[in-house]
Amino acid sequence: MVDCDQQIRSLFAEAGLRCTKQRLELYRALAKTDTHPTAEQLRDMLGCNCSCSSLATVYNTLETFCKAGIIRCIPTASGPTRYDADTSDHLHITSPDGSIIDVPHHLGKKLLASFPSELVQQIEAELGLPIDRVSLELIAART
Ligand SMILES: [Zn+2]
Repeated sequence: MVDCDQQIRSLFAEAGLRCTKQRLELYRALAKTDTHPTAEQLRDMLGCNCSCSSLATVYNTLETFCKAGIIRCIPTASGPTRYDADTSDHLHITSPDGSIIDVPHHLGKKLLASFPSELVQQIEAELGLPIDRVSLELIAART
């Protein structure tokens, strides 16, 4: 845990964030799950003994992390924003119940690589906007 915390402290320092106890606890909780939790779920995961048991504090801290680029905010169409400590380029599958899982990296990469670049160039030309990257969200069917 000491090494893990040291990595988080370095990440905060690189992002220009002060390392407070509550930030450390919140980031640690998010980093050890791959469930893309909501702010409320994160607060519940931390339990009532943590230093940021107020939901507003959790939201504010997550917002700070998002702005600093050390986590991903995943807005959802049908529910609260979800959060991901994995900031690498990867795709998500959203289930009808609102849960989000990661597409295996090699398959997500394969899907994005098959995206027609000439279509992206056409969109850039028509809108006059340079496209930096393509992101897709996969929606699972109701079963
Ligand atoms: Zn993810």
